[in-house]
Amino acid sequence: MLRPRSSECPMPSSSRRAAARSSRQPAAPQKRIYLFGDGKADGNAKMKDLLGGKGANLAEMAAIGLPVPPGFTITTEMCDAFFRGGNKMPAGLEDETRKSIAFIEKSLGRTFGKGPKALLVSIRSGAAASMPGMMDTVLNLGLNEQTVAALIKETGNTRFVYDSYRRFITMYGDVVMHADRKRFEHEFEALKKARGYKQDTDATAEDLQGLCEKLLRVYRAATGEDFPQDPWQQLETAIEAVFRSWNNPRAIEYRRLNRVVGLRGTAVNVQAMVFGNLDDNSATGVGFTRDPSTGENTFFCDVLFKAQGEDVVAGIRTPLHLDALKAALPKVHAELFKVRDLLERHQRDMQDIEFTIQSGKLYLLQCRNGKRTAKAALKIAIDLVNEKLLTREEALLKIDASSLNQLLHPTFDPRHKAAVLAEGVPASPGAAVGRVVFSSKEAEERAVQGEKVILVRHETSADDIRGMALSEGFLTARGGRTSHAAVVARQMGKVCVSGCGAIEIDEPHQFFSVRGQIVRSGDIISIDGGTGKVMLGEVPRVQPRLDEDFATIMHWADDARTLKVRANADTPADARKAREFGAQGIGLCRTEHMFFDEGRINKMREMILAKSVDGRRRALAKLEPMQREDFFGLFKAMDGLPVTIRLLDPPLHEFLPLDARTQERVAEEIGVQVEEIQAAVSRLHESNPMLGLRGCRLGLLFPEVYEMQARAIAAAALEAVRHGIKALPELMIPLVGHVEELRLMRDLCVAAIKRVQDEQGLCIEIPIGTMIEVPRAALTADKVAEQAEFFSFGTNDLTQMTLGVSRDDAEGGFLVEYVTRGIYPVDPFATIDRDGVGKLMKMGKELGRAARPGLKIGICGEHGGDPESIALCHELGFDYVSCSPYRLPIARLAAAQAALK
Ligand code: ADP
Ligand code: MG
Ligand code: MG
Repeated sequence: MLRPRSSECPMPSSSRRAAARSSRQPAAPQKRIYLFGDGKADGNAKMKDLLGGKGANLAEMAAIGLPVPPGFTITTEMCDAFFRGGNKMPAGLEDETRKSIAFIEKSLGRTFGKGPKALLVSIRSGAAASMPGMMDTVLNLGLNEQTVAALIKETGNTRFVYDSYRRFITMYGDVVMHADRKRFEHEFEALKKARGYKQDTDATAEDLQGLCEKLLRVYRAATGEDFPQDPWQQLETAIEAVFRSWNNPRAIEYRRLNRVVGLRGTAVNVQAMVFGNLDDNSATGVGFTRDPSTGENTFFCDVLFKAQGEDVVAGIRTPLHLDALKAALPKVHAELFKVRDLLERHQRDMQDIEFTIQSGKLYLLQCRNGKRTAKAALKIAIDLVNEKLLTREEALLKIDASSLNQLLHPTFDPRHKAAVLAEGVPASPGAAVGRVVFSSKEAEERAVQGEKVILVRHETSADDIRGMALSEGFLTARGGRTSHAAVVARQMGKVCVSGCGAIEIDEPHQFFSVRGQIVRSGDIISIDGGTGKVMLGEVPRVQPRLDEDFATIMHWADDARTLKVRANADTPADARKAREFGAQGIGLCRTEHMFFDEGRINKMREMILAKSVDGRRRALAKLEPMQREDFFGLFKAMDGLPVTIRLLDPPLHEFLPLDARTQERVAEEIGVQVEEIQAAVSRLHESNPMLGLRGCRLGLLFPEVYEMQARAIAAAALEAVRHGIKALPELMIPLVGHVEELRLMRDLCVAAIKRVQDEQGLCIEIPIGTMIEVPRAALTADKVAEQAEFFSFGTNDLTQMTLGVSRDDAEGGFLVEYVTRGIYPVDPFATIDRDGVGKLMKMGKELGRAARPGLKIGICGEHGGDPESIALCHELGFDYVSCSPYRLPIARLAAAQAALK
C-alpha cells in the first residue's frame, strides 16, 4: 500500500511485518467485529492479537458458560486502519457496529437510546498486551434525557440513574472530549463538602440530579457544545476516542518502558452495562485467584457495595473482603469460588478478575493472567504443576525471567510509604541505606568506622573502585544503566541509581541539593535500584530468602536448557557466589580489576612509568606473585570448572592519578618526580581511549605485561594441580581485529607457558582464545579461528563499534531519544541489536566453526544476563553465556525458556 501514513500512525514497518506474520489473520471478507455473550462467542482466548487481551478473554469466558454481559469486540485491525486512513473511521465499521448493537438489544430485550427498557453500554479499550490504566473506558453510554427518564421509570431508582449519569458525563467529557476531569470531579467534591457527606454513597437522588445539571453546564463551558443527546453519536465518538487513546502519551510511554512492540493497536469492546451501583445487593469487585505477592493458594478479593467500575481500585471507599460478601450474599460468594476454580483450570494460570453483582446476580467483566511478584511466580508455577494443570516445561515458560532479580536483593518494605526525594535510572536492583559520601576516600574513612555509606557522584570511574566496594550503593547524577557505576554495581551486587539529573552535587562543599533541599555528607538516604527512587532517611527493608521454590525452579530450568551459564568474576569471593548461583565456569575474569587494589596500583604505576624494558620487568616481577595468588584462588574456588582469564584490556591512563594532590602523594610513594607522572598522563592521553592503545595493542607494545600474566596463569594452574585441584584455565586475548595480532600474542603466551612448564617439569593444557569485539574480527572469523581455540563475543564493545555509538556518552544522552523515537526498539546495550550486532555474531560463528569445527563460543558482558540476548545465543548455537553472578538465576531460566520455545 502506497498511501502515505499519518504522523500518528502507530506502526513502524517492522511491527507491521510482525503483525502480518501472525497466524490469526481473519478470513476474507474482513470481519471487523466479533460478538460474545448470550450463548455466543465468535472469538476465543487465543485471538489476543486481533481482539486484544480483554476481548479475547471475554469471548472465552462467554464460551465456557460464565455469566458475561453480551457485547462485541472491534478488532485491533480496525484501530490500525483508523490511523492508516488518516484518523478516519474505517469504511463499513459503522454499519457493522449498528448490526452488533442490534445483537445486544435482541439478547437483552432492550433498546439503545430509547425506553421503555433502555440499553446502556460500556466502551472499553484493550490491546494484545495488558496496559493497565493506560487507555480509557467510558461507562453508562446511551444515557440522555430520554433514557434517564425511561430508566427511572423502569427501576424506580432515581438515585441510581443520576449516579450513573454523573459518571457518564464525567467520563465522556474526559475521555472523548479531553475536558479536564478535575473540573467535573470538583463539582461532586464541592457537593459532598457542602452537605457534610463523607462518602459518595451519602448523596441523595436530589443531590445527584442537581449535580448532573451542574456537570452538563461544566461540559458546555469546557467544550463549547451541549452534551450529545444522540446515542449513536455518543457511541461513534467514544469508539474513536478509544482508538486514539492508543497513541496518547501515557500509552506510548508505557509501551516504551515495557518494551511492548509489534502490536497493531487497541481493540474496542462494547458491552452491555451491568450495575454494581443499582441497589443494596449490588457491588463491584476485583480479585486474584491466588495471592499475587506470596503465591499462596488463597482467594484474594475486594468488593465494594453500591459502586461502579474503577471505584475499588481508585480507593474511594475501603473495600470489603470476601467474608463480608459471604454474610451479605452467600450464594454469590459460593458462585465466585466456583468461578475461580473453573477459570484457573481453564486458563491454567492465576487470574486477575473483575466482576459486578447486580441485584444479587454475579457477572464477569474481565479476566487475565494476574501480575505477581517473583516469589509468587515461583510458588504458583510449582503449585500448578503439582495440581497437574501445567507440565514443568509450561510452568517454566510462564515465569518472567528478569523478575528473579527481586529474589536476590533486599527490598524496601512495601508497607512503608516514604517521600521520594528524586528519581533516577534504576540501574542495579536492591535497596540500600547509608550515609552520603562524595568521595571514595570518605567512603573508606567512614566504612572503617563501621558506617554504611552511599557514594554520591556525578559519575564514577576506575579510581573509585575501592570506595565503591565499601559502599552499600551508588547514586550518580549522570550515566545510564550501563554506566561505570551501574556495571560495577551489578557486578558487585551493589545497588545503583544512575542518571539522577535532579540532584545537583557540590563536591567542594560536600552537599547535594534537589530543588533547594540540601543533603549533606553524612546524612542518611535510601536508594531503590529497582525503581530508581531516592528517599531521605532510612526506609525499612525486608530480607529476601532463597527458598525451596527457587531451588526447585532452578533445578527444572537446568534440566531443560542446553546453553551453559558462566559468570563474570574477578575474585574468589565472586567465584564462590557464582558457584552458589549455579555457574558452570567463569566466562570472564577481568585481570585489570586485580591491579586497582591498594598496594598493587602503585606497582602498576611503576610499571607504566618505567623508562626501560628492564624497569618494566622489575615492576612486573613485583606484581607477578600477587597475580599468581589471584589465579590460584580462582582455580581453587572453581575446582573442576573452566576459568577464562582475559589479559590486560583497559588503556593504561586509567591507572594514573589525575588530580594534583594524588599525583604528589603517588610520586612520593613510588619515588619519582611528580613531573614524570604528569608527563605520563599527557603522553598516554587519547581522544578516543576506547579505540586507542588497549587490549592486545598493549600486549604488542609492552609484551612483558602479557608474558607476566601468561606465566602467572600457568604457574598458578600447576600449583593448583599439586594441591589436587582441577584447574581448567583458558587464556583470552582482548580486542583482536586482525588474525596477525592474535598470532603474535598467542605465540608469546605459548612460549611463556612452556617456559613455566619446563621449569616445573609439569604439563597442563591451557587453551588460548580471543574476544570477538572488533567488527573486523567477526568479519574475518575464519582467519581468526585458525589461531583461536575459543571465541567469546564481547558484546559491549562489539555493540559500540558496530553501531558507532560510545556507550558512556550516549546513555542518558542521545540514546534515550533514539529509543523513545523507536529508532532502536530497545537499548542496544541492554539487549543485543539482533539485526546488526546479531548478524555479526552469526557470521562470526559460521565462519569460525567452518574453519575450526566444534569451536567453543560464548558471550561475556552485560548482555549475558539479558533474557532476549540469551535467547539469541541459544538460537545461534553458542555454548555458553557469561554474566555477573547475580544474574545467573535469570540466565539459567532464560536459557531454559529459549530451549523450550
Ligand atoms: P481497564 O482496562 O482499565 O481495566 P475496563 O475496560 O476493564 O478498564 O473498565 C474499567 C472499569 O469499568 C472496570 O472496573 C470494569 O470492570 C468496569 N466495566 C467495564 N465494562 C463494564 C460493564 N459493561 N458493566 C459494568 N462495569 C463495567
Ligand atoms: Mg479492567
Ligand atoms: Mg571489551
